[in-house]
Amino acid sequence: METAAEQCDVAVIGGGPAGSTAAAFLARRGHRVIALEKAHHPRFHIGESLLPMNLPIFERLGVLEKVRALGVYKRGADFEADNEQGYNTFAFDRAIGNSPPHAYQVWRQDFDKMLFEHARECGANAREGHEALSIEQRGPRETRLEVRTDEGRSYRLQARYLVDASGRDTFLSAKKSCGARTTSIRVRRSSATSAARMRARARMRATSACTGSSMAGCG
Ligand SMILES: Cc1cc2nc3c(=O)[nH]c(=O)nc-3n(C[C@H](O)[C@H](O)[C@H](O)COP(=O)(O)OP(=O)(O)OC[C@H]3O[C@@H](n4cnc5c(N)ncnc54)[C@H](O)[C@@H]3O)c2cc1C
Repeated sequence: METAAEQCDVAVIGGGPAGSTAAAFLARRGHRVIALEKAHHPRFHIGESLLPMNLPIFERLGVLEKVRALGVYKRGADFEADNEQGYNTFAFDRAIGNSPPHAYQVWRQDFDKMLFEHARECGANAREGHEALSIEQRGPRETRLEVRTDEGRSYRLQARYLVDASGRDTFLSAKKSCGARTTSIRVRRSSATSAARMRARARMRATSACTGSSMAGCG
């Protein structure tokens, strides 16, 4: 006999910024949300440079003060350029529209942990060390997930809606067998961006060290 599946309105795969944000907003609206993160926070992740337009989202989410507390104040960013200094500085206060004049630089492990815990505080059942292994679409409002914990226990989850926030793992597309191609494209692009970012970061550190300020790239 088939074992009963645990029920929820929304299952969220992935406890990065996307998954935690979706889980928090949905739980706050009263939906039963189960969020699955295969790793344990804090876990290493790349992508620490936030942008000004993230700030209104943090405000809606209710975490702006927490981001301020763990982030480094940033008034702009440097972009690689073929000029004498090797980069152009973009000051956020020169942006068009209602964009805030600054952003924050964060350690992703701390930032992601904070967002995941916030989702929990908002009412999401947020689980670490729980990996979604397979999916079965049984009907338009009936998705089944097979989940395994890192202690080796397996269970089934049945959700009316599924949010795939698995990041580079691309859970759903991988299950539809187009994952391999997507992965190889992303890896190539990442290494190029990674080198550029490392150079920009080195300059940022130099600027901060010289001025004694926490501002990135806007000396
Ligand atoms: C080199 C590089 C530099 C970058 N720099 C920046 C930057 O400076 N600023 C910026 O804003 N963005 C940057 N990015 C992009 C940024 O990293 C991503 O946009 C961001 O992490 C996406 O968040 P996410 O929540 O969608 O996915 P992720 O943060 O990747 O989270 C996905 C989560 O899902 C979990 N997961 C995956 N599969 C499963 C499963 N089957 N079951 C359970 N859990 C699962 C993973 O463990 C992970 O924690 C950079 C990316 C790269 C590659």
